[in-house]
Amino acid sequence: LVTQVSTANTSSARTAVLPKHEFVAGRLSLDFCNSISPTRRPTLRDRIESAEDFLGWARRAGAKLEEKPAPKMLARLHRLRGALVGIFHALAEQRTPAVADLDVLNEELAEARAAERLVPADGGFEVEDTSPQPIDRFRHAIARDAAGLLTGDLRRVKRCPSHDCLWLFHDDSKNLSRRWCAMDDCGTLEKVRRYRGRS
Ligand SMILES: [Zn+2]
Repeated sequence: LVTQVSTANTSSARTAVLPKHEFVAGRLSLDFCNSISPTRRPTLRDRIESAEDFLGWARRAGAKLEEKPAPKMLARLHRLRGALVGIFHALAEQRTPAVADLDVLNEELAEARAAERLVPADGGFEVEDTSPQPIDRFRHAIARDAAGLLTGDLRRVKRCPSHDCLWLFHDDSKNLSRRWCAMDDCGTLEKVRRYRGRS
């Protein structure tokens, strides 16, 4: 995602620049991966580097979190993200994900599953995450989402082909035709490039 815009939040210079489209992946676990740029472009910094960063990102993602993560929790979130980045970028490059990365995800998934209980709902039952801490439920949701992707159609996990971008996204189109993270961003830039190349 190349185009950048300043946010209304100018309270901190560190959070003043956000990508034009921050949540394009269509899946929580992939948006989580995209919070750190896989390219070396210095303008796209890690958007969940600090605990404050994470809280801001999670809220923008729609999570109802009140408190920023404690240092241990932040380290755990970074560890999970590192594993997911490793797994999904490996898949995007048709490589086998590292066992160590899958181990981290399995650990998180096991904890997420252990927190699940059947609870009555609408004349039936549903599975609910009963962890008391919202941050745990949110982390579990990321792990479950990643597991859902990995057990689904892997062709739908894609990476934006723009070398400046390489963001991950889920292609939920009928005929697997989605190519770009955002058509009005990398997709447009590519069109301009091709047009200039012709003339
Ligand atoms: Zn892109």
